[in-house]
Amino acid sequence: MPIYEYSCDKCGNNFEKLVMAGEEVKCPKCQSSMVNRQMSAFSTGPGDWGVSPGPSSLGGCGSSGGFS
Ligand SMILES: [Zn+2]
Repeated sequence: MPIYEYSCDKCGNNFEKLVMAGEEVKCPKCQSSMVNRQMSAFSTGPGDWGVSPGPSSLGGCGSSGGFS
């Protein structure tokens, strides 16, 4: 899902919005269309990192698997 981060030129508000094709983006705070899209790699938020396997779980798996 293309969720973009915007900052408002008028009031300086930062917000995220899921943008459909051809949709005009307006600031939810002041309803201004003078918004700038932030070009960041961020897609779903910091919560995404919580579900990915960390190095600790990978290390534990390798150390306990002494089959050789
Ligand atoms: Zn605004």
